[in-house]
Amino acid sequence: MQRIVLASGNAGKLKEFGSLLADSGFEVVPQGTLGVSDIEETGLSFVENALLKARHAARTTGLPALADDSGLCVTHLGGAPGLYSARYAGHHGDNAANNAKLLQALDGVPGDGRRAFFICVLALLRHADDPAPLIAEGRWHGRILDAPRGVQGFGYDPLFLPDGQSSSAAELDAAVKNRLSHRGQALARLKQALADN
Ligand code: IMP
Repeated sequence: MQRIVLASGNAGKLKEFGSLLADSGFEVVPQGTLGVSDIEETGLSFVENALLKARHAARTTGLPALADDSGLCVTHLGGAPGLYSARYAGHHGDNAANNAKLLQALDGVPGDGRRAFFICVLALLRHADDPAPLIAEGRWHGRILDAPRGVQGFGYDPLFLPDGQSSSAAELDAAVKNRLSHRGQALARLKQALADN
């Protein structure tokens, strides 16, 4: 098994990516155990930030690296909260405040103005100077509800009604969400890219 560093400290992601990449011959090691510091995400897009994080982890450890970047984009808001999804209301990871701010921003906006998508970009570098990284993206389209529904999931899930569903993302069974979601789609594409390359 080839070790690969995951440019994230999130235990949920470690588990999800770990099982995916085991099939592809990789053992996933979280960057925290290898002394990789967090870097500033100075990119202007999800793919730029995923590449910055993966390159930093690969450079520091000398190992292949995988990074992800994800968020929610609302068309009517010019793509916001976008790169700032985790700290839309000011404090990183304050889901209740972020959701309240989103509802406020869309107050009185009807129909198609509430269309949105979650996006996840994965970047895999075989080494820090890899000129041909594997990039996999997933988008999950839907609309923003008028009020939160459901208690599962995290982040903006209670406000997101996926296309084709009558349940919000926070009302869906976790296994169903993982199959449909931006992250699920990106992971499936990465797995395919690994098999093809
Ligand atoms: P990160 O890329 O995991 O740091 O996610 C950035 C932010 O995007 C999270 O803090 C959430 O606010 C939002 N986000 C990303 N994926 C999801 C999801 O599946 N459900 C709800 N919110 C999400």
